[in-house]
Amino acid sequence: MKTLNKILLLLLMLLSVFLALPINTDAAEKKVGKASISVKTKGDTINITIKKTDKAEGYEIYVKAPGDTKYQKYDTISQDGSKERTYTYTAKNEGDYQFKVRGYKKENGKTKYGNYSKAVKVSIEKEKSDSSRTVYITKTGKCYHYKNNCGNGTYTPIDLEVAIKKYSPCKKCVK
Ligand SMILES: [Zn+2]
Repeated sequence: MKTLNKILLLLLMLLSVFLALPINTDAAEKKVGKASISVKTKGDTINITIKKTDKAEGYEIYVKAPGDTKYQKYDTISQDGSKERTYTYTAKNEGDYQFKVRGYKKENGKTKYGNYSKAVKVSIEKEKSDSSRTVYITKTGKCYHYKNNCGNGTYTPIDLEVAIKKYSPCKKCVK
């Protein structure tokens, strides 16, 4: 049994060496090049500009959205020969988004990847339109309130766009 253990150990060692070999990012980087990106936001639209990477046939776009624990491949786009390519991403939620991309090329039926670009982080704040916010009213009051504890009484939530038709803004808490 001891001999068997030794053989197994040897096999494991060989396997780990074998597994480590194909991961050679330096060589891949020389061929595809490291991608670089810049990111601009306008509202919930995020424009990712990818600078052309030598020999890349296209790019993989990775996103880490709010709540994600790791990056996820979001999309793949092809190189179109232009110096820069802009990719548009629409944020669904508020919070921090992180992006990174990497170039790829296909060679002898295998896909080779360049190194990841630096990760770029943007923060998205959804603007709440004023008319859709919730305000509070009381049964007897003539005002609507931003605070549900502005004075004494029982405050009931109501949409602002409904409230403004019947009530006037509270001078204390609505500014
Ligand atoms: Zn008030």
